[in-house]
Amino acid sequence: MARNPDGSYSTEHCAPILSVERLRKRFGILEALAGVDLTILQGEVVVVIGPSGSGKSTLLRCMNLLEVPDEGSLAIGGEVIWQRDAGAAAVRLKDVDRAALRARRRTAMVFQRFNLFPHLTALRNVMIGPIKVKGEKPAEAERKARALLEQVGLADKAAAYPIELSGGQQQRVAIARALALKPEIMLFDEPTSALDPELVGEVLRVMKQLARDGMTKVVVTHEMGFAREVGDRIIMMDEGRIIEMGTPEQIFTNPRQDRTKAFLRRLLEGNAPPPVPVTSPTNTSILNGVA
Ligand code: ADP
Ligand code: MG
Repeated sequence: MARNPDGSYSTEHCAPILSVERLRKRFGILEALAGVDLTILQGEVVVVIGPSGSGKSTLLRCMNLLEVPDEGSLAIGGEVIWQRDAGAAAVRLKDVDRAALRARRRTAMVFQRFNLFPHLTALRNVMIGPIKVKGEKPAEAERKARALLEQVGLADKAAAYPIELSGGQQQRVAIARALALKPEIMLFDEPTSALDPELVGEVLRVMKQLARDGMTKVVVTHEMGFAREVGDRIIMMDEGRIIEMGTPEQIFTNPRQDRTKAFLRRLLEGNAPPPVPVTSPTNTSILNGVA
């Protein structure tokens, strides 16, 4: 984590691991990303928030070239993987494929829907990537997959098929599967928003442990408790741009932008938990009770 023991944010000891510059992506006339600059540091947990349609998923998808940006650059671990200037000629498909492959080798994405292979057991779902992508020997892949299932608390579900697992368990298998490819950065796109509320906690617990283990993560989520506890930095997007960024403390207690304030207020109203007694007079955040 890029946070000091006192909770303050420090980038001093962290190297940049992924950066995007001037990233633009259009769908027809719609500008989904309107010029995004962002540098993620090694070991950092960046939480991305913002209204629906603000470009959060597109940003994540551009970070591993699941979506090919129109303009801008993407660098991972100091290596420029994708670059295209305004007005540059169309890029050859072969070059796109090659760049995408490089980006995806270094990142892993966890989606809202778990996308497990339904005809494979949990164990096989975790093993298949290393075997197919990295040419790992099945016995070695199995040993590692079992360890990963253990890590996400599912050692006893190795033989289960996705349909036999709850949504939370499926998502934990999906996390183990992503980890199996040893990514340098993990990208989570609303990993808990398709889950029944009682299953959210088990997935967040796994994600918190990963953060403690030092995994670099970019997480699109509206789980404000998680954002506060685990996030080093919060990024607020609107209309294809980053309109505000800061520590959870700054963003949740003292957002500068009216649009951030309005968004957080709406989130609070939509998610209103049972009333929580105000215990401290300084506890005046507009997100009281959410965390
Ligand atoms: P968010 O994840 O913040 O809800 P998205 O990144 O999914 O936002 O979408 C940003 C905008 O781009 C939205 O207006 C969305 O409708 C549009 N968009 C996203 N993907 C596509 C696509 N494949 N084709 C057309 N429009 C898209
Ligand atoms: Mg989205």
